[in-house]
Amino acid sequence: MQSLLARGVYWCTMCQQELPAERFLTDAIRNGAPRSHCRACSGKRTRAKKFNLSFAAVDRLFAFQNYRCALCDKEYEDGDGLNLDHNHACCPDKGTSCGECVRGLLCWSCNAGVVTWYEGVRGRVTPIPLFEKYLNNPPAVAAGLVRRRP
Ligand SMILES: [Zn+2]
Ligand SMILES: [Zn+2]
Ligand SMILES: [Zn+2]
Repeated sequence: MQSLLARGVYWCTMCQQELPAERFLTDAIRNGAPRSHCRACSGKRTRAKKFNLSFAAVDRLFAFQNYRCALCDKEYEDGDGLNLDHNHACCPDKGTSCGECVRGLLCWSCNAGVVTWYEGVRGRVTPIPLFEKYLNNPPAVAAGLVRRRP
């Protein structure tokens, strides 16, 4: 691995590819050596665990959305800053879900503010097509991760 680092790259054991060393978190325990998987993979693994999905499913969702927020289309390299949004009517707790009610990846402001607001006023305001499309056919359903909810 030292020879890879000399070239400024490192091998991710999860996505099985060489990536620039700055796309890895370093580990104090390992004397500042990069972790064995890249930041994007670390993030996907954490999200998968919290939301009861497989790593492959989360990976597929990121690819499906091109690492962009499903609403505002902002791009996040490595996926940092994209949250997994789920239906709180199914799983009220923040930051976790049964896995069946996951909707899609959203940036912090779309997730925390916009969607919650829209769900609260839905039916009382003129429907906004962008939000209706997201809620009626969320990326997680479109990408085949979860079944469409009745
Ligand atoms: Zn990786
Ligand atoms: Zn957004
Ligand atoms: Zn749920």
